[in-house]
Amino acid sequence: MILESDLLVIGGGLAGLVAGTIATESGASTILLRKGQSATAFSSGAIDIIGYLPDAAESISDPLEGLTAIAGLYPLHPYGVVGYGDDVAPEEVVDAIIGRVRDTVVWLKNHLQGTIASVMGDFNTNIYPITILGTTKPTCLVQETMNPGDVNKHEESVLLFAGITGYPDFNPSAAAKTYLEDRMALGQPPHKIGHCMTQLMPFRKCFNISSIEIARHLDHAGSIETLAKQLEPHVKQIGATHVAIPPVLGFRHALKNKRELEKSIGAEVFELLGFPPSIPGLRLQRALEEVYTKAGGKMLVGHEATSYTKTGQKIKTVVARSPRREISIDTKAVVLATGKYIGGGIAGDEKGLRETVFDIMTVTADYHSAKDILPSKATNRLEISPMGQQLQWCGLSIDPQFRPIREDGLEWADNVFAAGAVLAGYNYSVEKSGLGVALTSGYSAAKSAIKCIKGGGEN
Ligand SMILES: Cc1cc2nc3c(=O)[nH]c(=O)nc-3n(C[C@H](O)[C@H](O)[C@H](O)COP(=O)(O)OP(=O)(O)OC[C@H]3O[C@@H](n4cnc5c(N)ncnc54)[C@H](O)[C@@H]3O)c2cc1C
Repeated sequence: MILESDLLVIGGGLAGLVAGTIATESGASTILLRKGQSATAFSSGAIDIIGYLPDAAESISDPLEGLTAIAGLYPLHPYGVVGYGDDVAPEEVVDAIIGRVRDTVVWLKNHLQGTIASVMGDFNTNIYPITILGTTKPTCLVQETMNPGDVNKHEESVLLFAGITGYPDFNPSAAAKTYLEDRMALGQPPHKIGHCMTQLMPFRKCFNISSIEIARHLDHAGSIETLAKQLEPHVKQIGATHVAIPPVLGFRHALKNKRELEKSIGAEVFELLGFPPSIPGLRLQRALEEVYTKAGGKMLVGHEATSYTKTGQKIKTVVARSPRREISIDTKAVVLATGKYIGGGIAGDEKGLRETVFDIMTVTADYHSAKDILPSKATNRLEISPMGQQLQWCGLSIDPQFRPIREDGLEWADNVFAAGAVLAGYNYSVEKSGLGVALTSGYSAAKSAIKCIKGGGEN
């Protein structure tokens, strides 16, 4: 089978879906390939822009401050690259970066509005949602179901951590203790924190219950009333104004469930940030796919880009395989958004680190070739520094249009643009910048690809 599109996006995580939506909305016909699950679906579902500078222990209170520091200290960081577009004067670099990231945050908030992953938060300030461990982390946007409201603002706030019997991933007593110690150290409310257990027995299971089973159960009519009945006496007993529950409030009806629960028990309810499998991460993935397909984009799930034809400096055709068929896609431009080790865009073995679709050169944190980096040696525990695991820094090096570059410093192709975790030059786990980089680079790569398509391939 042969298909044609103006733009081919390879990768269906946040970077690829944002790039695909931008291109489709600009009038370009777009096909997106997603071979499997993405890191986006494994994420906590909170959108980090920048929470820390690499090597720094203090968190950043607002993305503006963080981006300004990145522009000065890490000009080759994917955020930094945004400042080197053709029409940006040197004195405008910081403003260009801040302007682009702000635009993308507003774009994402608007597009997720009314979906199962609608978000709240503001580009001008980081927020500190609570995790299932009782710790906090700086992030920019959280899903509305995770909004802790004013729990930290009022002296009289009382917070109740509620667990679910048989769900092993959340220990409300340990989380309450950690969070209380943290608040006491800061001398800030809430000063009274309690914990309790509820019994849900989704699908009659009473032990080893997964977050997916609970979320599915809570989407069924009647189950929120059962949860409310169980919570009510605990809320009354300690006079809780807020109830923190693990991130399992439902797939399709999480926000409705939150509101129903709040009405029944008379306290604000919010989801904590959790680990994979993450229901909010899955909600974000589904919501982004819905936004992309509603805009008119075509998506081929379970299709892996496996080979290509290149004429001169241009990719002409990419071949995608699924277990049942092989498709050739003729395209004018490609956005490569295949992620890193989880998505599968970068892989490593005894021959070194390689980009998996086009075999483009990968680089290290110092922008040296990463082809000789052996994961078996680089995962030595002793090598972990405040800069984080070195493998997380590796990926593709790009030009200001987000085109990957090769060993001689020239673009690998004129019509291939890269975005998201496949890029080098940042470490999301130390910076808390994962979905933010995917968002800004997906948006930027798509803008460059559209220019390339409209210019007949010239960029
Ligand atoms: C456990 C965990 C928790 C995290 N929590 C957060 C968080 O709370 N906040 C935050 O901001 N960030 C978080 N991150 C980081 C964030 O999830 C990633 O940085 C981000 O999702 C990367 O998005 P991406 O689109 O670049 O890649 P991915 O989301 O990994 O998507 C890559 C896509 O490419 C597809 N693909 C790969 N190769 C091919 C091929 N050959 N053909 C077709 N398709 C292909 C994959 O199937 C996948 O769909 C977390 C990451 C992890 C692992």
